[in-house]
Amino acid sequence: MQLTSNMHTHTAYCDGKNTAEEMVQAAIKKGFTTLGFSGHCYVPQEQFGMDQHTLQAYIAEVTRLKEKYKDRIDILLGIELDNTAAPISLESFDYYIADIHAVYSEKTRQYYVVDDKREILLKALQEGFDNNTQAMYHAYFAQYAAFVTSKKPLYAAHMDLICKLNGQNDIFDETASSYQKEALSCLEKLAQARLPLEVNTGGIYRGYRKAPYPAKFLLEAWRQMQGEVIIASDSHDADSIDFYFEEMQKYLKKIGYTYVLTATKQGLVRQFL
Ligand SMILES: [Zn+2]
Ligand SMILES: [Zn+2]
Repeated sequence: MQLTSNMHTHTAYCDGKNTAEEMVQAAIKKGFTTLGFSGHCYVPQEQFGMDQHTLQAYIAEVTRLKEKYKDRIDILLGIELDNTAAPISLESFDYYIADIHAVYSEKTRQYYVVDDKREILLKALQEGFDNNTQAMYHAYFAQYAAFVTSKKPLYAAHMDLICKLNGQNDIFDETASSYQKEALSCLEKLAQARLPLEVNTGGIYRGYRKAPYPAKFLLEAWRQMQGEVIIASDSHDADSIDFYFEEMQKYLKKIGYTYVLTATKQGLVRQFL
């Protein structure tokens, strides 16, 4: 059955291409019943995301659209929390998702963004972790688990984003047992916190990866842990709002999942595969 919701959606208020209204119209055209907006929080050191002023405009606009389109689609106002972002009050939001986009080095006391430029990831490795790949991904997954479980979000988003710029498997080896051990230990912490896990198709759409986040071995392990999954497109434009949803449903079914979660105004519900 067609999935008719997406809770990971960006707009031109942060780094998305389209306006919030264009995203709503695209969702309606695709037959969606629920659309959640998850704009980026403000990251002062990168001057990235929605600053106070933009955030207020975003809240006002999504609130306006909720009302305007209420007979056609349920719109939810959310936000994507990040470990480098300035703290914000979550009162105004219907929901939030959580993840990290940067790894912190104890040595240099700096955050390095892992999903922006290859040079930055390499700098993290060289300068922040003395070329020790294991130390870098250990830090990344430990920081991811600590941050995300502390926030109790609707779900845990793109957990292995550190792989985004490692498409050739050349910065670190994703098949190494030391890598998989660190990622699995992060997964166990998410399971203990009973968080649903996002299956994110954004990296495929943008041509960085051939498979979703998280990697297949993680989705297989998650299934063994009886974890629940939710498919999301991490959409930054109107065309990709349901990107790869059908393929992902088949992919997850093959792994052994019998259902995925999908969003409604009342919360997450099961949709059987
Ligand atoms: Zn993100
Ligand atoms: Zn996002």
